Amino acid sequence: MNLRSEKKLVLATGNQKKLVELQAILQDAGVEILTLDDFPSLPEVEEDGQTMAENAVKKARIVCEFTGLPTLADDSGLEVDALGGRPGVYSARFAGEPTDDARNNAKLLNLMDGVPDEKRLARFRCVIALAVPEGGVRTATGTVEGRIGHGPRGTGGFGYDPLFTPEGYDQTFAELPGTIKNRISHRSRALTAIRPAILSVWGDEA
Ligand code: IMP
Repeated sequence: MNLRSEKKLVLATGNQKKLVELQAILQDAGVEILTLDDFPSLPEVEEDGQTMAENAVKKARIVCEFTGLPTLADDSGLEVDALGGRPGVYSARFAGEPTDDARNNAKLLNLMDGVPDEKRLARFRCVIALAVPEGGVRTATGTVEGRIGHGPRGTGGFGYDPLFTPEGYDQTFAELPGTIKNRISHRSRALTAIRPAILSVWGDEA
């Protein structure tokens, strides 16, 4: 039984697209979702972990301590089998900082030059952490399998989307309608997996 009076949750991001995705998944739960934009004095959390889980847990814990509210944080990236799982946790800064999607994609295509179709398997992974003020942290993971193309295709989405064709489709994430990407994406799968833990913060059923 939980005595929290109001259902407020912080999503530790300034990314509007992530907010919209979470709102859709929690639409019937009566939860008010705040973001980092609601806490302008919060210091930037450095993503210096060795794994996506470390980064997500660190961010969720720090933001939860600062706000005093249950907090969700995510970290995600692309794992390419032929590159031993790279860029993985370094996806955002694969070609250096600041993050530059075009340079990241060019670097990836270069490294994949000559790799045959059957060895171009990859997946997007998202780890989401939920930290509560009492100190507990739960995590959930979502993945979507696919393959890396030989050149960019499509203008939608962001990041590595123009290079990634999800399993069962012929179009890249940048060509597919956003509604399809959002339904099968690593992030939506991780969010769906953590939903019961979010609801249990207020003693609600999944
Ligand atoms: P973050 O977890 O939002 O910081 O994402 C880390 C990096 O992973 C991004 O900068 C992208 O390069 C890559 N990434 C994560 N999710 C996606 C996606 O859905 N599409 C394309 N790239 C993604």
